[in-house]
Amino acid sequence: MSQVKDPSLADKGKMSYEWARDHMQILTNTISRLKKSQPLKGLRIGICLHITKETSVLIMGAKELGADVSACAANPLSTQDDIAAFLAENGIHIYAWTGQTPEEYDWCIEQMLSHKPQILTDDGSDSHSKIHGNKKFASLKVLGGTEETTTGVIRLKALAKEKKLKYPVIAVNDAYTKHMFDNRYGTGQSTIDGYLRSMNLLFAGKRVVVAGYGWVGRGVASRCRGMGAKVCVTEVDPIRALEAHMDGFEVAPMSEAAKTGEIFITATGQTGVIRKEHILSMKSGAIMGNVGHFDVEVDAKFLLTESKSVREVRPNLDECVLKNGKSVYLVGKGRIANLVAAEGHPPEVMAQSFSNQLLSMIYIAKNHKKIGRNVITVPDEIDKQIAIDALKAMNVNMDKPTPAQIKYGQSWA
Ligand code: NAD
Ligand code: SAH
Repeated sequence: MSQVKDPSLADKGKMSYEWARDHMQILTNTISRLKKSQPLKGLRIGICLHITKETSVLIMGAKELGADVSACAANPLSTQDDIAAFLAENGIHIYAWTGQTPEEYDWCIEQMLSHKPQILTDDGSDSHSKIHGNKKFASLKVLGGTEETTTGVIRLKALAKEKKLKYPVIAVNDAYTKHMFDNRYGTGQSTIDGYLRSMNLLFAGKRVVVAGYGWVGRGVASRCRGMGAKVCVTEVDPIRALEAHMDGFEVAPMSEAAKTGEIFITATGQTGVIRKEHILSMKSGAIMGNVGHFDVEVDAKFLLTESKSVREVRPNLDECVLKNGKSVYLVGKGRIANLVAAEGHPPEVMAQSFSNQLLSMIYIAKNHKKIGRNVITVPDEIDKQIAIDALKAMNVNMDKPTPAQIKYGQSWA
C-alpha cells in the first residue's frame, strides 16, 4: 500500500534514481558486496527521511539486501514526487508527497509505522518521538533505530537521559564521515542552491548573516564567502564565536546584525533565533530563511500571519509586507531551505551519510541485544572504512605510516 501525489511520475523518478545511484559509488559498492549474504532478510524497516533521489538509493539498497521497507517523509515540503512514485512502483510502502499539511504529515508517519517496522531510521526523530509519545504505538516491538541529524540525536539523548528510550539507536549524525561532510559541505552547497533557486539574486557583495557556527553554519558561511558575500556570524557559544572570528568572519549579536543584513540564514537547531524584534529592525528587502531542523528558528508564524500582506512572488519565496511598511522575504516558509527550495545535498556526500545508515541498520540487526537502550555512535571501523571507500571513489591516494613511524608515535621517549 502507498499514497503518493502522482503515480505517473514513476518513469521520471526512475531516471532521477539512476542519476543519484550512479554518483553514490560507495553506497552501491556496499550494496553489491552484501547482496549475496542478505543481511536484512525478512526484516521490516521503517524509513522517515527526506524522500529524495539520494534516499531512493538507500531504500532500494535496503530492499536488495532483503528488507521489507515502508517509508514516509521527514518534512512536509521536501518530497520529490517523482521519486515517491518510483518507489511506490517498486514495492515500497510509501506515504509521501510534497506540500503536506501538518495533519497529513502526521498521518503519513502513522501509516509508515502501521507496517510495524523492526528497525526505524529517522531524520529529526519525529517518528521515534511518536513511538515514545503516542499510546497507539506503545506495543510496537522495535529492535533498534538510527538517526540522521544533529537535532534528532539531541532529542533521543534527552529520552535516554530520562531512561525512557525504548530501544537502542545509532546516532549516524555523530559519525565523522557524516557530520564533517554532510552537515558542512553538503549543506554549504545545497543552501546556496536553495537560496539561488528561490531568489536568484547576486551573492557577491551582499551582507549575509549566518546564525550558528556549528558544522552546518561553518559550511554555509564558507560557501557564502566563496560567492563573494560579506559574511557576519552570530553565535551563543564563546568557543564557536572565537573560531568564527579567527576564521575571518565578523561576529555580532543578532540585534545588531539584523539592522544591516541583506540575506539571513539560520543554522542553529534552536528556536527563536530571528524574532519579531529582529525582523522589525531589518532593512526593507531583507531575505531570510533557515537550514536548521524545523521551522522555528525564524519566526515564520509572525511573518506569515501577522504581516499586512503575504504573497508568493517566486517559487518558495514569500514577500511579507510588515505593518511598519517594510517588505521582507521568507524562503521556503522557514523550513530547511536546501531541501524545500532545492534538492538537498548532492549524491556524492549523501553516499557517505547513507553508507553509515545502511551499515548501521545491519549492525542493529546483528547487535541490538548487546547495545541496550542507549544512543551509541557508529562503530569506528565502519566510519573509517567509509572514509577509505570515499577516498577510493574520488581517486585520492594517501600515505601509510611506516613501522618506524608507528613505533615513534607510540613511544613516551
Ligand atoms: P551544531 O551543534 O554543530 O551547531 C549549532 C550551532 O548553533 C552551535 O555552535 C550553537 O552554539 C549555535 N547556536 C545555538 N543557539 C544559537 C543562537 N540562538 N544564535 C546563534 N547561534 C546559536 O549543529 P549542526 O550540525 O551545525 O546542525 C545545526 C542544525 O542544522 C540542526 O538542527 C541540524 O539538525 C540541522 N542540519 C540541517 C541540515 C540540512 O540539510 N539543512 C544538515 C545537517 C544538519
Ligand atoms: N526533519 C527535520 C530534519 C532536518 S534535515 C526537518 O525537516 O527540519 C537535515 C538532514 O537532511 C541532514 O542531516 C541531511 O543528512 C539530510 N539531507 C540533506 N540532503 C539530503 C538529500 N539529498 N536526501 C536525503 N536527506 C538529505
